Amino acid sequence: MTYKHQVIDPLAPTMTQLFTQMGITMITGDATLVDAHTVKVGGDTYTADNFVLGTGQRPATLDIPGKEYIHDSRAFLDLPDMPQRITFIGAGIIAMEFAAMAATMGRDVHIVEFSDHALNGFNPDYVAKLQAKLTQQGVQFHFGEAVTSIAHSQQGLTVTTKSGLTIETDYVLGATGRVANVENLGLEQLGIELRAAALPLTTTCRRLYRTSTPVATSSIKYNQS
Ligand SMILES: Cc1cc2nc3c(=O)[nH]c(=O)nc-3n(C[C@H](O)[C@H](O)[C@H](O)COP(=O)(O)OP(=O)(O)OC[C@H]3O[C@@H](n4cnc5c(N)ncnc54)[C@H](O)[C@@H]3O)c2cc1C
Repeated sequence: MTYKHQVIDPLAPTMTQLFTQMGITMITGDATLVDAHTVKVGGDTYTADNFVLGTGQRPATLDIPGKEYIHDSRAFLDLPDMPQRITFIGAGIIAMEFAAMAATMGRDVHIVEFSDHALNGFNPDYVAKLQAKLTQQGVQFHFGEAVTSIAHSQQGLTVTTKSGLTIETDYVLGATGRVANVENLGLEQLGIELRAAALPLTTTCRRLYRTSTPVATSSIKYNQS
C-alpha cells in the first residue's frame, strides 16, 4: 500500500504541472453545459468550438439489505491488508481480476454470479480456461445465484442468495457493472436524451469520440455537416 501511494499520489500534481507547461489550462469543478459552445464551472463560463465528454463511470450499486457492507473496486485497491475470506458479487472483469489476486495470496474466495457464466462477451474458450485455473486455485464459483442480502454475524458477514445459499465471509466486493456519469451535465438542455447507464446521442452531437462512457450505439446518428 505504501508503494502504491508512492507511485500514484504524485501522478495528478505531475500531470497538472506538465499540462500547464504545455499551455493546457486545468479548471477544477463540476462542469455543466449551458449550450453547444458554453460550459459553466462554478460561477464562471467558458466557450469552445467543441466539447469532449470524459466524465467516466461509477460502480453500479445493489439496493439490498446489507448494501452498506458492499465495497467497490476503489476500496478494495486501498485495503491495507487482504481479508482472509472475500466474496465477489458479479463475475465480470473486475471480480475475476481481483479474485485472481486474492486466490494467489491464498485467500478464501467466492464469486456469486447471476448468469450462468463468467466474463460475458469474452471468448468462451479462454473464459473456460481462466475459470478452470481459478477453480484449481480454490476460487468457488456460484452461478445462477442472485445476492439478496448481506448480514453481519459473529463470524463476519453472511451473504445470502435468492435460492437460499449462504456464504460466510469477511469482505464483500460488489462488481456488478458500472454506470455512466451523465447526470447534471446539462445534456437535456442540449436536446440529448439520457437513458439509464448509456448516453444516446442525437443529431445535436456532430461527432462521437468514445472513451469509456457507454453509448447506446443503435441510437447514434452522426451529423457530418
Ligand atoms: C478496477 C478497474 C480496473 C481497470 N483496469 C483497466 C485496465 O487494466 N486497462 C484499461 O484499459 N482500463 C481499465 N479500467 C478502465 C479505465 O479505468 C477506464 O476506462 C478509464 O478510467 C476511463 O477514462 P475516462 O477518462 O473516460 O474516465 P475517468 O477516468 O473515470 O475520468 C472521468 C473524470 O471526470 C470527472 N467528472 C465527472 N463528472 C464531471 C463534471 N460534471 N465536471 C467535471 N468533471 C467531471 C471525474 O471526477 C473523473 O475525474 C479499469 C477500471 C476499473 C474500475
